[in-house]
Amino acid sequence: MEKNIFEKIRDGEEPADIVFKNEYVTAFRDIYPDTPIHILIIPNKTIRSLDDIEEEDGIYMSNIMLSAKKIAKEQGLNNGYRLITNCGKNGHQVVPYLHFHLVGGEGEFPLGKMITLPKTSKQKFKLKFEI
Ligand code: AMP
Repeated sequence: MEKNIFEKIRDGEEPADIVFKNEYVTAFRDIYPDTPIHILIIPNKTIRSLDDIEEEDGIYMSNIMLSAKKIAKEQGLNNGYRLITNCGKNGHQVVPYLHFHLVGGEGEFPLGKMITLPKTSKQKFKLKFEI
């Protein structure tokens, strides 16, 4: 079976702007960035989506989280960021290789609040949201 684009990037067979790599993960800039900083973090093991992770993949998952924090700091995302994975058809996943979008940056870009709640719920959870 032919490798997909992220497998080729992981294996150095396709060019990418790699910002971080260790034994477990590879992180590179998204070719069509939606935000000033838009980086994709993938495990170095072929896992198709979040739905396909197994208990034994914990080391890959923890490295994804830890590298996201490290990269965010290195990229100057001091005011926060978002880490997103799209899973499956209804999650609008396009590339069938588990990846996390690390997105953020200052200025005008389409990164709004993720959760839009009715006003009453907003009031109820106000303290929780305003950390
Ligand atoms: P998703 O919809 O979560 O599967 O997102 C796939 C992402 O991969 C999109 O944001 C694309 O812009 C990005 N992408 C596709 N091909 C490449 C590539 N060759 N290098 C970097 N990013 C890519």
